[in-house]
Amino acid sequence: METLDPQLAAAFAVTTGVGFLMLISGVHKSLLEWRHRRRPCPSCGRDIDGRVCRACTRA
Ligand SMILES: [Zn+2]
Repeated sequence: METLDPQLAAAFAVTTGVGFLMLISGVHKSLLEWRHRRRPCPSCGRDIDGRVCRACTRA
C-alpha cells in the first residue's frame, strides 16, 4: 500500500473539514430561520409560535 502524500492528505482534510463546516452552518442557519419565521394564523391572525395556533386549538 502506497503511503499517502501528507500534503495531499492535509489539503484533503482541510477541504473536507471546511465543506463539512459550511454544510453544518448552512443547515443550522436554515433551521434557525425556519424556527424564527413567523406566520399568522389564517383564522385569527395571531402569530403562530408552534405547529398550530394555540388560540384556535384551545378547546
Ligand atoms: Zn388562530
